[in-house]
Amino acid sequence: MSAIKELTEYFKEIQKLSYISNLLEWDQQVNMMAYKSVEGRSEQRALIKKLLHKRLTSDKAGNLISEAEKLKDLNDIDAAIIREAKRAYEQEIKLPEGLVVEIEKTSALAQQKWQEARKKSDFKLFEPLLKKTVELQREKATKLETYPDLYSTLIDLFEPGTTYDWIANVFNSIKPKLTDFVKKLNTSSNKPDDSILQKNYDEDKQYKLSREILEKIGFDLGYGRQDKVTHPFTTSLAPLDVRITTRTTEPFPDCITGTIHECGHALYEMGIKKELHDTILCGGTSLGIHESQSRMWENIVGRSKEFWQYWYPTFQKSFPENLKDYPLEEFYRAINVVQPSFIRVNADEVTYGLHIILRFEIEKDLIEDKIQVNELPELWNSKMEDLLGIVPPNDKEGVLQDVHWSMGYIGYFPTYFLGSLYASQIYNDALKKMPNLNNDYKNGEFSNLLNYLRENIHQHGSVYRATDLIKRVTGEQLNPNYFFEYVEKKLYPIYQL
Ligand code: ZN
Repeated sequence: MSAIKELTEYFKEIQKLSYISNLLEWDQQVNMMAYKSVEGRSEQRALIKKLLHKRLTSDKAGNLISEAEKLKDLNDIDAAIIREAKRAYEQEIKLPEGLVVEIEKTSALAQQKWQEARKKSDFKLFEPLLKKTVELQREKATKLETYPDLYSTLIDLFEPGTTYDWIANVFNSIKPKLTDFVKKLNTSSNKPDDSILQKNYDEDKQYKLSREILEKIGFDLGYGRQDKVTHPFTTSLAPLDVRITTRTTEPFPDCITGTIHECGHALYEMGIKKELHDTILCGGTSLGIHESQSRMWENIVGRSKEFWQYWYPTFQKSFPENLKDYPLEEFYRAINVVQPSFIRVNADEVTYGLHIILRFEIEKDLIEDKIQVNELPELWNSKMEDLLGIVPPNDKEGVLQDVHWSMGYIGYFPTYFLGSLYASQIYNDALKKMPNLNNDYKNGEFSNLLNYLRENIHQHGSVYRATDLIKRVTGEQLNPNYFFEYVEKKLYPIYQL
């Protein structure tokens, strides 16, 4: 067998083990595991991680990579397989098995504790395990040393090739513009009235409609599932087994927009070409690009007027008590209202970026030991006040709202806002090629956009790095101006400015 073929096959087994690991986590989150059972699951998850670690750091893996590296004139896919295998090997070999196991065990326990703490809005319950998580991540970053600073090393795990400085540059250039824009909208005398969204909408009906939309925009239920959870996410249990999750308990239309969001992630995973299945390239290339897909469908498509021109009559029929006599135009304005709020996942697409900047700034100081875990609730609240002008009434709606830190995901948050920025830039390109794209949505037609995304982004999996991919697709590096162009063009008319 050729060196590249052997390397590819070897890493396919590693990929399959990862899918099994995903299944254990999916089950824990979706099926609300009994709290006394979590110990056993944490041992199983740690075992899989140990097996993965052993395979990934074996002499065989090292030898296969060096053999494959000698090959010349490789196509893009083979070159990327070597690049990613080498990256995974070189990272993993720096981490002692004990640390890998400890991180996984702690993550399973901390997730469970976080759920309890969030429910009771009691940060103290979560504090000891969060402290341990931060220490473990600091140790991991110190060992990996991909970059001189710890935070860049952790960010790189989610957004390969991206550093703290690079993101800080982007975010700092945006922050004043963003806060000004929010102020401008908020002081407008034509603020949309969104009280219609605060009415009661039957949960089962919402869920049913979310399923209908899911299928209409291209999620193939032959290759995946949708389940209900408290904190939505998407995961793959195999290349053609994509699981999305939805919550129905949040204010309307979170169930709908949240489902469209997860569907955007799922379409990416489902669209990866067959040739890459089970290989190390079988997954989105970075979390930022992944998030660009979810946020594009959720906001640019799912909150567009054309989208609702198609769906609104169905919603009026499902919820006549609220919507029968309520004009589409007013509904469209309501779902696009921009206002500071406590919960990131429910935030509008403009203030959303400020929620991310808050986390980005906190994480940097936290990992560098400049702030302590016990200071987080207070720090969180004061930053909320600075950036958004509001203070959460409790920790549940403040520092305890996100699952990420319990999972050890420090460095993940910035990718969310990068996603919004990438989304506007990619959509701008799609519009250049298909100027009438939005008219499709009026007829419940989404395949032109999906085909464009499949062609340009999805099929490639992780063959191209995010920074290369955006250049290939749009002809330039990440440019935040597209985001502002998009939100201004959309929101000025809504606010009659
Ligand atoms: Zn997402």
